[in-house]
Amino acid sequence: MTANLLDFDLDGLAAFCQRLGEKRFRAVQLFRWIHQKGVARFEDMTDLARSLREKLPGVCEVRGLPVLAEQASADGTIKWLFDVGDGNAVESVFIPEDDRGTLCVSSQAGCAVGCRFCSTGHQGFSRNLTTGEILAQLWHAEHHLRRRFNTTERVISNVVMMGMGEPLQNYHALVPALRVMLDDHGYGLSRRRVTVSTSGVVPMMDRLAQDCPVALAVSLHAPADALRDDLVPLNRKYPIAELLDACLRYLPAAPRDFITFEYCMLDGVNDSLDHAEQLIGLLQGHAGTGVPCKLNLIPFNPFPDSGLRCSSRATVKAFADRLHAAGIVTTVRKTRGDDIDAACGQLAGDVLDRTNAAQRLAQRRRQEGQPVIWTPKKQETSA
Ligand code: SF4
Repeated sequence: MTANLLDFDLDGLAAFCQRLGEKRFRAVQLFRWIHQKGVARFEDMTDLARSLREKLPGVCEVRGLPVLAEQASADGTIKWLFDVGDGNAVESVFIPEDDRGTLCVSSQAGCAVGCRFCSTGHQGFSRNLTTGEILAQLWHAEHHLRRRFNTTERVISNVVMMGMGEPLQNYHALVPALRVMLDDHGYGLSRRRVTVSTSGVVPMMDRLAQDCPVALAVSLHAPADALRDDLVPLNRKYPIAELLDACLRYLPAAPRDFITFEYCMLDGVNDSLDHAEQLIGLLQGHAGTGVPCKLNLIPFNPFPDSGLRCSSRATVKAFADRLHAAGIVTTVRKTRGDDIDAACGQLAGDVLDRTNAAQRLAQRRRQEGQPVIWTPKKQETSA
């Protein structure tokens, strides 16, 4: 297979061009055609030297991802299902708001972390995406949306690596993709507007601070190790104290002076006022100083066999009020794109359960004598 130019950040593309006997400025021209103008055909790149335009088709191409489906929600949210081969598919979701357009991007087909409240985790892990497959989601979405809205202006202002997969477990593909997002010759996004969300891969958080510090969101979901061990199995390897230490080490390099903690509200599991008190103690007391942070409460999106239910609106509000009263900036995520299953935790909805992980989870819960609950989606929205 010929090289895919979406796999390269600018330095990588310059090295590729050098191997073809071409100077760096040619790589810059190519890079801008691909990412800024969305052009894939070399013959359409009119300011490239004719000799280069003729040379490139034999050795490389701009290979996007086939779109299996596109769905638009009544609220403007748009979801794409991309084919990544071998029966695997990944999703990206565009979420328009008054002052921004955010694209939620996937980093893996499936996920190995297996968080209990996440439908992606329940489908098991298939494989890491390549840099080109990560970027193809942004490349397609940005240029498709420009055509759709009939504009030459940038449509996507923010990227969140919060789709399928744990981005820091696909670090080597992730970092070049982030660099293209940030590059002024690429998408030119500010570091503050590119967010990596992690369940807490501590060593890679340290590396990200060195290699490409962008905004960081950490999936916390519990105020104590025993509960987090159950909800986010990676906690057994990197417990909360180590995770918060890593957050404190990340902050000096971070483009924002706080870490965003994500907290999925689960009925009767992690949503009591006692949990709120523990959380306040943890976030304000860790290492004697606390961790500068914002807390984002996420209403759980139920899916079959999770054994979990979303907290009531009143419970989410009481939890948020308690954190506010303690001086912790707390938001409750609005549920978007619900009519197209685009909301968080539902990204695996249309994708094959390749490893039958959901069935295995349901079987395990039955064996443990625990209920297997299917709550019809959208009983609760943001508080
Ligand atoms: S929440 Fe993130 S890390 Fe956890 S299983 Fe889902 S995709 Fe993986």
